[in-house]
Amino acid sequence: MIEADRLISAQATPPERHDEGQDRAIRPKTLAEYVGQPTVCEQMEIFIGAAIKRAEALDHTLIFGPPGLGKTTLAHIIAAETGGEMTVTSGPALEKGGDLVGILTHLEAGDVLFIDEIHRTPKIVEEFLYPAMEDFSIDIVFDKGVNARSHKIPLKQFILVGATTRVGLLSAPLRDRFGIFRSLDFYNETDLMTITKRSAYLLSVEINKDAGQELARRSRGTPRVVNRLLKRVRDYAQVKGDGIIKPETVRAALDLEGVDERGLTNLDRRYLKTIIDFYKGGPVGLEAIAATLPEASDTLVDVVEPYLLKRGLVVRTASGRRVSPDAYRHLGYKVQESLC
Ligand code: ADP
Repeated sequence: MIEADRLISAQATPPERHDEGQDRAIRPKTLAEYVGQPTVCEQMEIFIGAAIKRAEALDHTLIFGPPGLGKTTLAHIIAAETGGEMTVTSGPALEKGGDLVGILTHLEAGDVLFIDEIHRTPKIVEEFLYPAMEDFSIDIVFDKGVNARSHKIPLKQFILVGATTRVGLLSAPLRDRFGIFRSLDFYNETDLMTITKRSAYLLSVEINKDAGQELARRSRGTPRVVNRLLKRVRDYAQVKGDGIIKPETVRAALDLEGVDERGLTNLDRRYLKTIIDFYKGGPVGLEAIAATLPEASDTLVDVVEPYLLKRGLVVRTASGRRVSPDAYRHLGYKVQESLC
């Protein structure tokens, strides 16, 4: 429910990013250009094809996975492939019900509303989403108390695409209103090499195969990281070399960036070393690690831990996080016998 006078504050807020022009240029625009995630691509192709054949809007879609794996890109592709316009906003940007109502009432049939970080949508706004998603309508309340009157506003059949790094934080009623759920996993080296090659071509950078492999190996299984590091390595090659990216250019530039041969960043290593140095390798609770580092626990859960867990450098147990023998070896520590 919403007071009518709040409607004027409705707005969509596109997220700000640096290097935005270049980022837009290298972002894949069709499913055919989207590298990796074969199951997700095949299924989305079927769902989109079927919706188009029936002349219906695609079911609301929830995409989850760690940052930089291609959730926003997939949302753009869904809009492009279904022929709709896309409006971008994010959970924290939707402070009042009016923010969302303003956006919803401007959507045409088949348009995509993309809500990034949907798990951070305030409860009061989330409640507007339920009827909007289910019945394509919203209730507006005029006046208060005994004079209160409610008015139903019909909406066009839009497609909601939600993205989240924390699917577990979504409320059950919101989760249940999505017809399609897809999770994105970290990319393998071959896929990251393909992304590197494509981005290098679009950025007019020359990179040889071994250098591409080295870059892929150090990119935490993440397209956003591979693209970001490619730009830093390009800078290095242009200033310190002849502009061509070779394996030694990648190694030198990424050593400077603090990215090691397995792609771990300074923060990753500080996280692991904190558990080893202060908590004897664990198990230790998240809040204790966050307080010792110090770093926001959300950053650790969203950004740091997923890749370390995936690579088996840290394990999560009922009593907390524990560093694996592999992490000890990688950081140059002697492996404790109790861990073997
Ligand atoms: P997320 O929304 O999950 O944080 P993005 O969709 O913003 O991630 O992706 C970050 C960048 O990585 C994009 O700008 C895009 O260039 C690149 N990217 C992501 N997924 C892919 C993919 N499957 N193939 C090629 N490039 C990708």
